[in-house]
Amino acid sequence: MKNIHAYAAQDAATPLAPFSIDRREPGPHDVEIEILYCGVCHSDIHQARNEWGNSIFPMVPGHEIVGKVTRVGDHVKKFKVGDLAGVGCLVDSCRECHNCKEGLEQFCENGSVGTYNALERDGKTPTYGGYSTLIVVDEAFTLKVPSNLDLAAVAPLLCAGITTYSPLRYWKVGKGHRVGVLGLGGLGHMAVKFAVSFGAEVTMLSGSPSKEADAKRLGAHKFLLTSDKEGMKQHTNYFDFIIDTVSAPHDYNVYLNMLRTNGTMICVGAPPAPAQVPAFNLILNRRSIGGSLIGGLPETQEMLDYCGEHNIVSDIELIPIQKINEAYDRMLKGDVRYRFVIDTASLKD
Ligand code: NAP
Ligand code: ZN
Ligand code: ZN
Repeated sequence: MKNIHAYAAQDAATPLAPFSIDRREPGPHDVEIEILYCGVCHSDIHQARNEWGNSIFPMVPGHEIVGKVTRVGDHVKKFKVGDLAGVGCLVDSCRECHNCKEGLEQFCENGSVGTYNALERDGKTPTYGGYSTLIVVDEAFTLKVPSNLDLAAVAPLLCAGITTYSPLRYWKVGKGHRVGVLGLGGLGHMAVKFAVSFGAEVTMLSGSPSKEADAKRLGAHKFLLTSDKEGMKQHTNYFDFIIDTVSAPHDYNVYLNMLRTNGTMICVGAPPAPAQVPAFNLILNRRSIGGSLIGGLPETQEMLDYCGEHNIVSDIELIPIQKINEAYDRMLKGDVRYRFVIDTASLKD
């Protein structure tokens, strides 16, 4: 057991503050990773503030983890000491159900184990995430990280990256498709990068006029302000897909009406309150609403390898852990360009 530095939320109403946690001794299949960087996902805020109603406190958030392997168990095959390694949103699952066998561990029928705000498969040990200096994870849930990319900017690929890559692949988005990306934050900016890389025509749908130049720089072909009534109307029946990354409650019907016949709205944003959708908005034009949850381990590795080959990383603002509560406040205002990443060296002070 190692006692290490972390930052935790003690309850839903108190800012995150220094905390210490124990990490287990690496078992035969475990990899011990010194965490170098951890991205800040909006899901960290939802959970630290118990907005989804399922929070376990104290909570050490963080599921966009990259670092260096410091120890490996006797049976570990994929990693040796000194290798780069990544950990995303999952640290375990049953590994036996249909979905696990298909590499869809995020949908484990017996319940996958989240990197934080979850219990290990023993049903009692809480998991603690990447706002910390060290983590011990089974190698089956540890990813290989390409060595040619900026490591801090790789961290957000572990959640924001896979969460947008996976549905774009599932719905086979590519050349000839018109894709709208709703919300330019952590997930949104990765959705733009991937959809452009896969050959689609990409329109950024944003509530922030100040993000137009960035959207274009990220590769978006068009930028549409969601408050621009005329521009929005001109895009009625326009898109094949809209990938919705918005974290706060909003009217889905506005965007459903922008889908052409057979179009699909892909929900990845997870607002705390339910949306209301009249059946007629789906019936007319045979539109669909779908959702997608992160991605399984094989696809997460595929995404990281794709990013290594195509030089895709996140646009980040590196922060010391001491700025985490400020970063949360800025994200709630949409003031993020486009992912905060914690430099965990700041935890050792
Ligand atoms: P983020 O970086 O904070 O970005 C969210 C963006 O949504 C904002 O930058 C803003 O973009 C827009 N937005 C925020 N509040 C809004 C409002 N009231 N009305 C309209 N637009 C608003 O968040 P993120 O980390 O990308 O996460 C986004 C959502 O995805 C969260 O709910 C998160 O929990 C969820 N998530 C889901 C999965 C999954 O597996 N499905 C995985 C990770 C995260 P503009 O300024 O451009 O309008
Ligand atoms: Zn996340
Ligand atoms: Zn399973």
